[in-house]
Parts: sequence; structure tokens; C-alpha cells
Amino acid sequence: MIESNDQKRLYYNALLDKNTEFDGVFFAGIKTTGVFCHPSCTARKPKFENCEFYQSAEEALLRGYRPCKICNPLSYPQELPDEVKLLVEAIENNPEKKWKDYDFKQLGLNSVSVRRKFKKVYGMTFVQYARSRRIGLAFKAIKRGSKVIDQQLNAGFDSASGFNDAFTKIMGNPSTKIKIKLLNANFIETPIGRMISISDDDFLYLLEFENRRGLETEIFKLRKKQNARLIYGATKISILTTTQIQQYFNQKLDQFTIPLCLDGSVFQKKVWNILINSKQGEHLTYKEIATELGDKNKSQAVGNANGANQIAIVVPCHRVINSNGEIGGYGGGIERKKYLLTLESSKKETP
Ligand SMILES: [Zn+2]
Repeated sequence: MIESNDQKRLYYNALLDKNTEFDGVFFAGIKTTGVFCHPSCTARKPKFENCEFYQSAEEALLRGYRPCKICNPLSYPQELPDEVKLLVEAIENNPEKKWKDYDFKQLGLNSVSVRRKFKKVYGMTFVQYARSRRIGLAFKAIKRGSKVIDQQLNAGFDSASGFNDAFTKIMGNPSTKIKIKLLNANFIETPIGRMISISDDDFLYLLEFENRRGLETEIFKLRKKQNARLIYGATKISILTTTQIQQYFNQKLDQFTIPLCLDGSVFQKKVWNILINSKQGEHLTYKEIATELGDKNKSQAVGNANGANQIAIVVPCHRVINSNGEIGGYGGGIERKKYLLTLESSKKETP
């Protein structure tokens, strides 16, 4: 999201002028209607304070905005092909659905050419688009749900047992037989995208990029394991996490000191601890970690443990690369892994 006031004013003026030159440069989220638009949209223009500006459509979707029907904000620079329009409509008719490749096939939208067109127009795949839209809605509902639960708590309800959080509809409810825990979701802006933290006043449970593949499954498992509902809010731990993540990106942090709730097998925890004890600028390989744990043939298991990490950056799984020097995979995307490794290798030791 664009934060600088000068920039916001510039973009707002472009929006008022319906300036086509800015189409594709930014997207305007309209808080009052919940849609996002091209600057050149012909719909009535909102007040400045009701606008948010985004550099990508994905960001606007993740913030819970839906594409405007008047200006088709994702169509720049060409007209939206009919198949693509059909697809966006199908998703809008059922935005909370967990769309799979199979569903798109059912709509007759699985040809290579439609896929290619979609990717070109939207800068993302069908499945990514549907996921961004769905997660955006869930996050928005978490914020709304938190107000409801605040009211319940203020009204004297001592537990949140009657409360369904935003993920209930998508993912089902945790068991209601034992005490339900409340975990707080919060967001952190970073130079490589927004992150979501999930914490209570004691521990950090999850820290991930909001568009990470598999995020919903991670949240589902966490809610189930902890028998928790998610609300939106800050905790001592989320505040500490925000501070340290910002210091990290400004190259002002040597070591994270956030209390973590690590949930995994004994083996996974051993792997994570090796990562936590590694230094910025250091690279590890799967094989090295396996050897350190006493069995050099366990590279694959180390890889799996690495992939199961859900506390990005703080448990630095991005430091693990392939034995042949190749960068290897990353849940948050290879570009982010490269960024983090470059950031760390250029950091000067603070005396
Ligand atoms: Zn519009």
C-alpha cells in the first residue's frame, strides 16, 4: 500500500482526472464500496480519505477489495478477453470457495491459451487470483469479527465459545469441547510484501508472507492444534515481532529474541534450532544439517522440516541452499529468498 502523502495526493489527482496514463501504474481501493479501480474509471469519484492506493492488483485483492465492474481494473493494457471475464465473474459469485484447477476445467476454462491470457492480464494464475481474493475476504472478516468479539467480551461474556471466526466458513470449526484459545492476527509491512503474524501475549505461532502458497492450510492446522479462534489485534509479542522485523530489514538487528511456539516433531525442532542458531550471511545446505544431526542421508527429511517451518525469517529457512550452490526453493517465493540472502550478506556486523 502506498503510504507517502505526496504520492497519495498525486494518485488521487490522477483518479479525479480519470488520467489514463496512470492505468496500470496504481490501483485505487475505495473503502466505501469495497471495490478497486483503474485511475481512469468513470464511476463517481470517492473522497480522498476513502481511498487506498496499491501498486499491484494482488495487493488490493489481499486487502479484501473486489475488482470494479465498470473499469475492469485488471484489464490493462488490453481489453479483458471474454473467457477471462467469465472466470472473474465465476469467482465473484463464489469468492469464498476454495477454487481448484479442476473447477476451472469444469467451466471449460482450462485451455493453455486461456491460462496464458489470464496470467498476462493479471500477472498471476487462476488459482493465485482466487486465493488472493479469498484470503483478502478472510482477513477483512477477521477485522470485523474482532469488533463483534470485543462487544461480546465487554458485554460480560467470559469466553468466546459462541464466536465463529472468519476462517470458520472456509475451514470449519475447532472442537468446542475444550477451552477455546484466542490468537491474534496482525500485519507487518516489509519491503518485499506484507506479512501476517499470529500470536498471543506469550508466543509467536506463525509469521508468513500473506500471499505464501499454503498459508490457509498452515492457519487451519494451527487453529486445530491450538484449538484456537483468530481475532485481529496486537499483543506484546506482535508488537515485539513488528519492531524486530523492521530492524531486521533496516539491517539493525543481529539476533531475534522473540519467544516462539515451535510445533513439530523432535527432528523438525532440531533442524529449526540449527537454523535459529545460524548467523546472518551464513549459508547452510540440507546435507550439512543432516550430517550435523548424525545422518548425512537425511537431506530429504531436513528439506521437509525446512518446508514445514511457519515462522519465516525468524526461523531462517531461507539460509538453506542446495549442495551444488543453487538457491533452492522457498515457500514465500524465490525472489524473496534472493532478497533476504542479499540483505543479510550485505549487513555489517554491529560492534
Ligand atoms: Zn472502477
